[in-house]
Amino acid sequence: MSIWNKKEIKTKKEILKSDIEVDVLIIGAGITGMTLAYYLRNNKNVCVVDSSKIGHGVTLNTTAKINYFQGKIYTKIIKQVNKSAAIKYLKSERYAINSIKKIIKEEAIDCDFKRVPSFVFANKQSEVEPLKKEVEFLKEQGIKVYEKDLPNKITSYKSYCVKDTYIFNPIKYLQGIYNKIESNMHIYENTKIIKIEKLWTHYNCYTPKYKIKAKKVVIASHYPYFTIPFYLPIKSYIEKSYIIVSKVEKDLNFTCISSSNPTYSCRFYEDNDTIYQISLAESHNTAFKQNDLYHFNRVKEIFNLNSKDIVMSYTNTDIMTIDSLPYIGKLKTNMYISCGYNTWGMTNGILGAKIISDMILNRNNRYASIFNPTRFNKSNIKELPYIIFSQTKSFLGPKLIKNKPWYKNITFTKEGGKSLATYIDKNNVKHTIINKCPHLGCNLIFNEKEKTWDCPCHSSRFTVDGKCIKGPSVYDISYKK
Ligand SMILES: Cc1cc2nc3c(=O)[nH]c(=O)nc-3n(C[C@H](O)[C@H](O)[C@H](O)COP(=O)(O)OP(=O)(O)OC[C@H]3O[C@@H](n4cnc5c(N)ncnc54)[C@H](O)[C@@H]3O)c2cc1C
Repeated sequence: MSIWNKKEIKTKKEILKSDIEVDVLIIGAGITGMTLAYYLRNNKNVCVVDSSKIGHGVTLNTTAKINYFQGKIYTKIIKQVNKSAAIKYLKSERYAINSIKKIIKEEAIDCDFKRVPSFVFANKQSEVEPLKKEVEFLKEQGIKVYEKDLPNKITSYKSYCVKDTYIFNPIKYLQGIYNKIESNMHIYENTKIIKIEKLWTHYNCYTPKYKIKAKKVVIASHYPYFTIPFYLPIKSYIEKSYIIVSKVEKDLNFTCISSSNPTYSCRFYEDNDTIYQISLAESHNTAFKQNDLYHFNRVKEIFNLNSKDIVMSYTNTDIMTIDSLPYIGKLKTNMYISCGYNTWGMTNGILGAKIISDMILNRNNRYASIFNPTRFNKSNIKELPYIIFSQTKSFLGPKLIKNKPWYKNITFTKEGGKSLATYIDKNNVKHTIINKCPHLGCNLIFNEKEKTWDCPCHSSRFTVDGKCIKGPSVYDISYKK
């Protein structure tokens, strides 16, 4: 469920039904994969596959702000990498904004694209000085930043805004991209890649039934299942956020985000004369907090939301990298990846698509060097103990403490050496799953609100009957006696 898919994307609903050969295989049809397909549409024999439907990954539950004023990201990059990387990142984000503007204009995509000011605010007194430093950096780079009060009633100790930022509906954007490219290439939905094999001249990529032979492969599947050359688990962690969509009287025409954790953020969206506020809060590393109902209640409190106005609530997760820069580029010969957007995938997904298309078409891209996915820098060493602790905690936590006090109607059992978990629904029907994520073996956390089993390690998700609805897992965990 999401505010963006009130209307389904209209596609031909093609599913792969035979072995095929292509120049470029793009795995994943979110904002990254679809925009990349758009950039390659006239030059290569391209095919896009998605295990689900177009745009039904992380892109579906995004808040869709197109913004370069991203909390305190630039001061973080200065600390974690250096100032020149921060300057390059700022330029790349502005370049990505111009790139998406250009696509939307040239293709006349009707996606509720709108210019609105974006605020960053200090939600604690102790955040005022660090936020001032971020603003100083932006001003030094020639950005016009205004000190201004937030237009709504969120508690703020200081707030600043920039005015050249945007919002849109990402699913309408993907519909526009689909309409433009579908005659040039095959886009296979419900087609999951479960294995990639490297040969001398090409890759063989396997779905459960068929093989795609591809000269080049791009992994645009958010958290990649195939991580061996890349070691993503020790270079990142997963952040989860809680989103509530509620009806409001007035569109205040702005977006905002707090400068530090816990993140508070909101924007507005108008659809068929109804105005919605999309409120997000309580972001946290999935290793540490797991009571979803508690976090949804906190979002209600923080934004002072009235239960009767709430239309829908959902969670979303993104990959946070330890140096705050995405991983975009070449992984090995003819294999590319774009992920690790630190919750800024509307710009970074476009940037990833542009950089990788330039690489595939042998063009130079002036931003590519800072995003090299195989990079190793000082933050890798500094943050390693935290990453190892959080990965161990997410791996062992659910194994050691299963019976959380807030769990209702869940039981854990063992059968023939297998860990099982059973959820009893409101009609008293039992749903049993094998309580082990097929990706790397983590035990799962029950998401009371959305009624899913979620992996705290790398954010795979499963229905109560064990069907995998989000990767990196490529397998189900259904249990049959
Ligand atoms: C709460 C929240 C709010 C956010 N808000 C913003 C915002 O306001 N602005 C912003 O810039 N960013 C925001 N982001 C970040 C942004 O939404 C994501 O970074 C971005 O959507 C990721 O896009 P993607 O295309 O890389 O991945 P996805 O959209 O996840 O696409 C990947 C696709 O790959 C498919 N797939 C996975 N595995 C396989 C497989 N094995 N075979 C075939 N297909 C596969 C999936 O089905 C999926 O459709 C937010 C993130 C969160 C968590």
